[in-house]
Amino acid sequence: MCGIAGAFDVERAFFVLHDLLLHLQHRGQESVGIVMDNFTSIKGHGLVKEVLTEKSFIEGHTGIGHVRYSTVGGPEEIQPLVGYTGKGKLAIAHNGTIPDASHRRETFLERGAVFSTTVDSELFLHYVSIAPFEDSLESVLWALQTVPAAYSLLVLNEDFMIGARDPYGYRPLFWGKYDGGYVLASEDSALVVLGASDITEVERGQVIILEKGKSPKIQKLSVDRPGRFCVFEYIYFARPDSNLGGINVHKARFEMGRWLYKEHKIQADIVIPVLDSGLSGALGFSSESGIPMDFGLMRNRYMGRTFIMPTDRKSSVRKKLIPIPEVVKGKDVVLIDDSIVRGSTMGVIVSMLREAGARKVIVGIHSPPVKYPCFYGIDTATRRELIASDHTVEEIRETIGADELFYLSIEGLIKAVGREDVCLACLNGHYDTWVPEVDSGV
Ligand code: SF4
Repeated sequence: MCGIAGAFDVERAFFVLHDLLLHLQHRGQESVGIVMDNFTSIKGHGLVKEVLTEKSFIEGHTGIGHVRYSTVGGPEEIQPLVGYTGKGKLAIAHNGTIPDASHRRETFLERGAVFSTTVDSELFLHYVSIAPFEDSLESVLWALQTVPAAYSLLVLNEDFMIGARDPYGYRPLFWGKYDGGYVLASEDSALVVLGASDITEVERGQVIILEKGKSPKIQKLSVDRPGRFCVFEYIYFARPDSNLGGINVHKARFEMGRWLYKEHKIQADIVIPVLDSGLSGALGFSSESGIPMDFGLMRNRYMGRTFIMPTDRKSSVRKKLIPIPEVVKGKDVVLIDDSIVRGSTMGVIVSMLREAGARKVIVGIHSPPVKYPCFYGIDTATRRELIASDHTVEEIRETIGADELFYLSIEGLIKAVGREDVCLACLNGHYDTWVPEVDSGV
């Protein structure tokens, strides 16, 4: 997952991008980069506050930025990427993954192209180069049509900035007015906090074209595809105060918790959220069941999110979440979380609660089991690493050491979110694009 941000024709765009990326930090914590329209750039590993400091300030009114956690390519390859194409110099910031990138890359290599990174996003630059147009704007639009998934993308040169979502709409993107210019961000909450006005969701297949001295143009890509917004944005990734497709993320998670109880009438003394990911769902579960919610786990605020950190997931859990024995001792607890991917994190939490004196540890997950990998921008890695891909619910329960384990159904998830045009591929194995067979297991 990554976050992207753009600032067009505003005062001190560096600080605007800093603030937007700060509010998208949850989407990627490995590296940060910004590139201005004169192609000066700042890039570095770490958090926004560590990389974009007052000392690293660069002048400019227009620029794009990126926070990254890697799905394709090495962690050293920091976006936005800059390339000299046959249609001029361009910078791009990409959220998503191109599922058939290796085939496309191979085709370019056979024709003699040279890639400077292993990142799939670089393909956009190559498509712009070979586009059958002289004009760079036309060439970018052609490249966007040629790669149908999965992207929310910002493209920048000295004359224009483009914000686009792929025709399936896998990843989010918003834009709004700010300081006489325009701003774009992966989530509307970042624009709201900045103080932008007229905040609008970029529709799937839509391209926003911002050119100096002209009014914005909105174009639709001619490729038509079914809507497939990533349902995991609601389950896990997006900020609770974001509104995606007009649906508030916190409220969607709250409803997931309510539907979880409607489907599983569990008896227990207290509901405990796995902070912060399970908080909204636990509130919904508690509200529907009448079982009081309490904070049985304390979170160390100075650790990152374990799902997002590429290494050391298991060992960091014990430092990140600390049980409160006074809350859980002698109680039957229902632990609510948003998902189980590999199972290692939940296993540690269950055993910590037992050590803290819980009588029974029941685990409720407000999403269905993740059985298949994601090829559209989420690091669920290979099918082999997904515990639900080859384990029954009972086997997972045994592995994590819980007394009971229950999940929300796919039908319950759709009712909770309130929209049907979502991607469910990692839950049901139905991919709408070509995907690598070897890893999909389907
Ligand atoms: S496969 Fe899963 S994580 Fe990937 S886009 Fe679809 S719903 Fe989201």
